[in-house]
Amino acid sequence: MKIAILPGDGIGQEIVEQAVNVLNALGEKFELESAPVGGAGYAAHGHPLPEDTLKLAKEADAILFGAVGDWQYDSLERSLRPEQAILGLRKHLGLFANLRPAILYPELANASTLKPEVVSGLDILIIRELTGDVYFGQPRGVRTAPDGAFKGEREGFDTMRYAEPEIRRIAHVAFQAAQKRDKRLTSVDKANVLETFQFWRDIVTEVHQEYPDVALDHMYIDNAAMQLVRAPKKFDVIVTGNMFGDILSDQAAMLTGSIGMLPSASLDANNKGLYEPSHGSAPDIAGKNIANPLATILSAAMMLRFSLNKAEQADRIDNAVKKVLAQGLRTADIYEAGTTKVGTSEMGAAVVKALG
Ligand code: NAD
Repeated sequence: MKIAILPGDGIGQEIVEQAVNVLNALGEKFELESAPVGGAGYAAHGHPLPEDTLKLAKEADAILFGAVGDWQYDSLERSLRPEQAILGLRKHLGLFANLRPAILYPELANASTLKPEVVSGLDILIIRELTGDVYFGQPRGVRTAPDGAFKGEREGFDTMRYAEPEIRRIAHVAFQAAQKRDKRLTSVDKANVLETFQFWRDIVTEVHQEYPDVALDHMYIDNAAMQLVRAPKKFDVIVTGNMFGDILSDQAAMLTGSIGMLPSASLDANNKGLYEPSHGSAPDIAGKNIANPLATILSAAMMLRFSLNKAEQADRIDNAVKKVLAQGLRTADIYEAGTTKVGTSEMGAAVVKALG
């Protein structure tokens, strides 16, 4: 199995190095090949997504991505900025399903702004559709209003739309993810107001017939946003559209209070995926050996589970992370009195040791 390793910029190099050490310690025969991306791609080949990097990403069975972006590239024209690499990879690889677990290990319950009893032990998965919705629908723009109360005035407008195959494929991803967990799926929409999301609800309900072992419920986005703060542990898997997912996934991430702990995956129709931490390249702490590598290590575990069919190895990594937290090891971002502060490489080495 071939894995493309794309560390990127800032802390990307340091955190991906630790995840690679963990992968190498599993005793599997993975072929790992690295390539520059983002600012590093621009520095090496004049483009954030160099041709050879894209070729490697296409050939590989899965991609482990660090993060891209650095202040020194902020003055470049938009198409050459590091962040374009991730958009280009999504487009070229057809990645349409964004999976973001929000997990709060009981040892880190104080990191959340919510009461520990509300969030301690939280373990939910948010699945956001990435290619459709009002973000990409045409037509869009600014025009003179053709009708309505403000006819003749300037107005901004966008088009919300979802094609049936687009809804079906994200629904399949969601039901299959729920099958690997507690077998409960909540589809979040706004079917009471929007035609697009009544259609979404109808299609998700149809796809449900193929997954009778999963319990499905539907929830309006406003209620979902409320329940996510009131009783987040009641959810198992949430699936929703591009815009609602954009908002809910960040809200869920903040429930945990520790951005350095959150992995993510973006999958295509064949479960090939790009795996990356939910945070950025953190140029403010790059090169200091203080970044938290756990989100990247947990992203590698997601890669084993969703793209490489190695659930047991994924469990080994997840359990090793739980073990080092139980041992009291903390990087600076999650440190609190009474625990032991360690650097990026020490944390990575502790996870390798905890694999057993
Ligand atoms: P950021 O996530 O990089 O950093 C936000 C804050 O969190 C910083 O204080 C940082 O030090 C801290 N932080 C982030 N990850 C951490 C970790 N693993 N351990 C400890 N602390 C951590 O967001 P930002 O500062 O808004 O953006 C920095 C750069 O990253 C920008 O160029 C941005 O465009 C880019 N970015 C890239 C991605 C991506 O590659 N997918 C995502 C978001 C932002």
